[in-house]
Amino acid sequence: MSAELRSELATATRILASHQLIGMFGHVSVLTDDPRRYLVCPGAGARKDRCRAADVLELDLDEEFEPGRPLELYMHAELHRLKPELKSLVHVHSPALVALSAMAEVPTQLLMLHASFWPEVMPVWEEAELVRDRPAAQRLIGILGNAAITLLRWHGAVIVGATLHEAVFRAILAEEHAGQLVTSLSHRRPLAPVPKDVDRSDLYARVLSPRTHDMHWDYASTFAEIPPGARGSD
Ligand SMILES: [Zn+2]
Repeated sequence: MSAELRSELATATRILASHQLIGMFGHVSVLTDDPRRYLVCPGAGARKDRCRAADVLELDLDEEFEPGRPLELYMHAELHRLKPELKSLVHVHSPALVALSAMAEVPTQLLMLHASFWPEVMPVWEEAELVRDRPAAQRLIGILGNAAITLLRWHGAVIVGATLHEAVFRAILAEEHAGQLVTSLSHRRPLAPVPKDVDRSDLYARVLSPRTHDMHWDYASTFAEIPPGARGSD
């Protein structure tokens, strides 16, 4: 496993923390070149904003939860087992996505070009339970299907990407878009969403190329550096 990938996962952890997407809860993973092994950030309680490469955990797909690891690590393991073409998963408990997750009908209007990965029908995990074992994680990945995001009721969301960079920025943009939807439902004024006849996949390809994700990564990384002299994630 390359030191570079470990360093990238630590950077992803800090970028997500700098956007308040992960902190006490929430985690991010990436599949390694060995399809049986993945990297994941430390579990609840670790300082995600100070995550260093040495703090990143490397796990086999069959490894179980232990203290220090994310409790819901099974969602990462089972994504990487069942959909190895998706290299990365981000799990968040962020406020706007949690607000959407508690709505009986999740709104799916597209209000931001940069959220064109938003599904036309939002997959929703309906269980009032964490994803704390392998069968639950397999059900979750089944619900996700080919979507980029799944909401977990009263809990948060799972966002996936073909690359670590894509998953991280989908997570950031998903929370922004969820905030737009919550606000638009609150003001109750007529909306002008992206028309239904605009293909979201085509739009995504035009607006959010891999190059854009890489540029966004470089930009966000500069705001997610560990302060000099700061201790690591302890
Ligand atoms: Zn969770």
